[in-house]
Amino acid sequence: MPNGMTRREREVTDINEIIKILDTAKVLHLGLVDGDEPYVVPMNYGYTMENGKLTIYLHGAKRGRKIDVIRANPKVFFEAECNIIPFEGDIACRYGIAYESIMGKGLAVIVEDVEEKKKALSLLMKTQTGKDFEFEEKMTAFVSIIRIDVSEYTAKYRPMPQKKL
Ligand SMILES: Cc1cc2nc3c(=O)[nH]c(=O)nc-3n(C[C@H](O)[C@H](O)[C@H](O)COP(=O)(O)OP(=O)(O)OC[C@H]3O[C@@H](n4cnc5c(N)ncnc54)[C@H](O)[C@@H]3O)c2cc1C
Repeated sequence: MPNGMTRREREVTDINEIIKILDTAKVLHLGLVDGDEPYVVPMNYGYTMENGKLTIYLHGAKRGRKIDVIRANPKVFFEAECNIIPFEGDIACRYGIAYESIMGKGLAVIVEDVEEKKKALSLLMKTQTGKDFEFEEKMTAFVSIIRIDVSEYTAKYRPMPQKKL
């Protein structure tokens, strides 16, 4: 994981806490580079975390801008957040928002292997619903699966401020 975060005391390094963020967030924002323009797409996801190695799976239509962009440039960045709670302050600059978030970068791969597509759809449903689903080969034909091989990620937690007694 890179070390460059401001407010380092808010960095989350416990892998179990990072997994909780991934299980809770449900939607990630996928950052792409379309020629010389940034492009961001919100998407649902599934993931695996094996010995600290994060792999993300996305599904979507077989055609469209994000697929075209990924084919041209597979470098991606992502961000997801959860447990967002706005809070008030006595003056404007003490208002804020509690949150937990994860972001990172990696390479996107369009998955063609049917067995991996089935696995990816099951992982996606598990992350999104907490339930186990199995997929038949014919169900994989209608969707594209994007795997993100994540090379770096960081997570951050901003708690609610302590109330003064
Ligand atoms: C909470 C949430 C979860 C989603 N989950 C998924 C998912 O798991 N899989 C999935 O494939 N899609 C998901 N979507 C839809 C996704 O954001 C895109 O709309 C869709 O993937 C098409 O992307 P594309 O690049 O192929 O766009 P195209 O259909 O090729 O569209 C091109 C243009 O349409 C506009 N456009 C596209 N998407 C959006 C958008 N969401 N909002 C506003 N304008 C848009 C942009 O101007 C873009 O340049 C989700 C959206 C939301 C809000």
